[in-house]
Amino acid sequence: MKQLGLLILGFIPFALLANPVAVSKDTVLMGSAFSFTAVHESSDEAWHAIYAGIEEVSRIEALISSWSTTSETHAVNMNAGIAPVKVSKELFDLIQRSKKISELSNGYFDISFASIDKVWKFDGSTVAIPSDEALAASVSKINYNNIVLDKLAHTVFLKEKGMKIGFGAIGKGYAANKAKMVMEQRGAKGGVVNAGGDLTSWGNRPDGKPWTIGIADPIDKNNIISWLNISDMAVVTSGNYERYATINGKKYCHIIDPKTGWPVTGLTSVTIVCKDAELADALATTVFVLGEKDGLKLINHLQGVECVIINYLHEITSSNNLNINALSNYEKN
Ligand code: ADP
Ligand code: MG
Repeated sequence: MKQLGLLILGFIPFALLANPVAVSKDTVLMGSAFSFTAVHESSDEAWHAIYAGIEEVSRIEALISSWSTTSETHAVNMNAGIAPVKVSKELFDLIQRSKKISELSNGYFDISFASIDKVWKFDGSTVAIPSDEALAASVSKINYNNIVLDKLAHTVFLKEKGMKIGFGAIGKGYAANKAKMVMEQRGAKGGVVNAGGDLTSWGNRPDGKPWTIGIADPIDKNNIISWLNISDMAVVTSGNYERYATINGKKYCHIIDPKTGWPVTGLTSVTIVCKDAELADALATTVFVLGEKDGLKLINHLQGVECVIINYLHEITSSNNLNINALSNYEKN
């Protein structure tokens, strides 16, 4: 017994003294640039945590992607107007949470926006303004109330033929949350997962300081307009500068007003700061659609959620509890 006590006493100071290291990896997942950083006692263990994170995001991508023909989402979409589809608890719950955001936003966030892909494509192939008829036909398929969830049977049914769901506005945030979770399980006591601009962080840097996160200028994304010192926080940005269609020299962004079917205008960037990357992702898109006034109203109403909004005039506003002047003056350490 005495021997064991000594052993433990001998071991603890060693563990406390070990210098943590940070390891990072960039890769492409879910069609976006991802980067993973893990802080661990040894670089070997940090790498294990990172590869576990990458595996987790790949798993989620295979489950929720609406492009893949083998995903559960694809099966749900193929059966729109035909039959309910039994899905995993994971997809069921994600759809349920997505519908909650639809309720919170009066339908401005709606995963059934996806039927609009018949008229707007943001891969360069849409070169003319869609007709009013085509827009109206697609908009008529958008309605989160027609995504029917059966809790007992664990099925999802899209009530109308031609309906389609897609997780472009919430999936990366979800993936960031889950990657963080598995990396923490692998012992990473600090880290950052950046899921194509949807970022979540935990713990501290190896030097014990908080993570420093930059918010990009929508006009020149290599230019940082403000810095945030964070730990255990998600910082998620929706911008109109990443994916858009260009028609007659005008840019149309990939975020759609579900009520009209038109790409939204007015804002160039929305950043949400809160604990939950999935919620932040969904809210960033929501505020983008709602616009400055209604978007701010929604965020100021929610506890523990802050935002920074940049409009098309390059004016910056922020929610009540985030002092943007203090942020802009902050010097990167
Ligand atoms: P990013 O992909 O740049 O991080 P967002 O998180 O705002 O941007 O997601 C934009 C994506 O969300 C679009 O590409 C589309 O897939 C989807 N989307 C567009 N409009 C809506 C909407 N009104 N509600 C829900 N999802 C939407
Ligand atoms: Mg989003």
